[in-house]
Amino acid sequence: MPELPEVETIARMLRVGSTTQPPVPGRTIDGVTLRWPRHIATPGAPRFRREILGRTIRDVSRRGKYLVFPLDQGTMLIHLKMSGDLALLPTGSPVGPYDHTVFHLDGGWDLRFGDARKFGKVFLVDDPNAVLTGLGPEPLAAGFTARTLGGRLHGHARALKPLLLDQTFVAGLGNIYADEALHRARLHPLRRSNSLTPTEVQRLWRGMRGALRAGLRHNGASIDWVYRGGEYQNHFRVYQREGRPCPVCRTPVRRIVVGQRGTHYCPSCQPRRGH
Ligand SMILES: [Zn+2]
Repeated sequence: MPELPEVETIARMLRVGSTTQPPVPGRTIDGVTLRWPRHIATPGAPRFRREILGRTIRDVSRRGKYLVFPLDQGTMLIHLKMSGDLALLPTGSPVGPYDHTVFHLDGGWDLRFGDARKFGKVFLVDDPNAVLTGLGPEPLAAGFTARTLGGRLHGHARALKPLLLDQTFVAGLGNIYADEALHRARLHPLRRSNSLTPTEVQRLWRGMRGALRAGLRHNGASIDWVYRGGEYQNHFRVYQREGRPCPVCRTPVRRIVVGQRGTHYCPSCQPRRGH
C-alpha cells in the first residue's frame, strides 16, 4: 500500500512534471471515463462526471495518504488504498487493464488512476476538510516535535505498531514505515505507548522521520503494488526481511502478526521490555 513517501512522490511528479510529462497544475479536465464507478466515493458517479467537467487543476499536494487537487472550484481528493497509482500519459497511448478511472486533460494528456484491486477512492468536495477531518498530524511537519509525539503517545495505552498505523494518531505511516521506524528507534512493536521514557520518545520521533525521509530520498518503495520509480525496497532494514540479518547486529529478523498485520523486527535491537 502506498504510504506517505510514495504518495508524496506521486504528488511531486504530477506537480512539477518531468522530462517526459508536463506539470498537471493549470490543466483543465475536459472529460472523465469511469470504468469502475465505485471509485467515486462522493458525490454519486453521475453527478461527479457532470461537476468535474471543465474544472481546472490548481495544484497537487498531499495530506496523510491522500492526494489533494485544489480546483478552480472545489477540491478533488484521491486515496490510492491498496494498489492505486496515478500516471500522466498522452491521450491515445495504450490504456492499461487496471486504468479504471481516467481524467482527460486539455493538451492531449490523460491522468490515469490505475487500481488493480479497486479499493481506491475519489472525492469531489467543496471543503477538503470534509474528507480530511480527523487525520492526525503530519509527521514531517515542523510543528510535529518529539514533545508533540510524546504527549500523544502518553494519551494512549496501546501497542506501538497499531498506534503508528492509526491515521488519527499520526497521518501517513503504513506497514513499511511503521516497521522501519520502530527498528530505527530500537523499540519492540508491542511496547505500550504510555511506557516510553523521554529518551525513547525522542528515538521514536527520529526513527519515524528518518524512515520517512529515507523513503522520500529513494522516491518511495516499489512493492506489493503497481508503482514505477521508487527503490526504497532495496534499503529496508527489517520490512519483509524475515530470517535475514539485521543490518545493525546480524540477528535474523523476526516476523510476528500484530493486529492482523505482518510485523518485522530485530529481537536483539528491539527487545521486549516494559509494558
Ligand atoms: Zn539488530
